[in-house]
Amino acid sequence: MIHFSQKVRERLSGSASIFSFFYYICVNPMERKEIENLMQAHGIRPTANRISIALALSRAGRPMSLGELEDNLDTIDKSGISRALTLFRGSHMVHVIEDGSDSVRYELCLSESEHHDSDEHVHFYCEKCGKTFCLNDISIPSVALPSGWTPTSTNYMIKGVCPACSQD
Ligand SMILES: [Zn+2]
Ligand SMILES: [Zn+2]
Ligand SMILES: [Zn+2]
Repeated sequence: MIHFSQKVRERLSGSASIFSFFYYICVNPMERKEIENLMQAHGIRPTANRISIALALSRAGRPMSLGELEDNLDTIDKSGISRALTLFRGSHMVHVIEDGSDSVRYELCLSESEHHDSDEHVHFYCEKCGKTFCLNDISIPSVALPSGWTPTSTNYMIKGVCPACSQD
């Protein structure tokens, strides 16, 4: 049993679960203005739909697939979400996460630099609930590649059972 601090207990209220605790410690959703700044930094015009999609990614606190985003965004159709994600991908405003499930998942890239991605981190795919979680504080170990091999992105995925599913 994990002993929550008073502050965390207040946030969890009645329906406390390990998952909501996990959610609480991992999520630091961006404000609308921060999202607009992030877009402008990546040369993307902040339209209402693009802002809504980026806000949904930020609030989720874990990488989201196109289908999951569609479920979260009633007002934007799938092709609209898909077009925005393609734009975000092309501008390096998102990380593309391959977790071995049917679809890739996306999360916002908060790195300031275009050339060095400073916010890449380890991900954990839960084989029970099918969710992929961000382990934000665990950075990806560096791998010394042979000369001539130029990496553009790294996926570091650990699979297993998440804290919420471990309780079942
Ligand atoms: Zn990044
Ligand atoms: Zn799980
Ligand atoms: Zn992540």
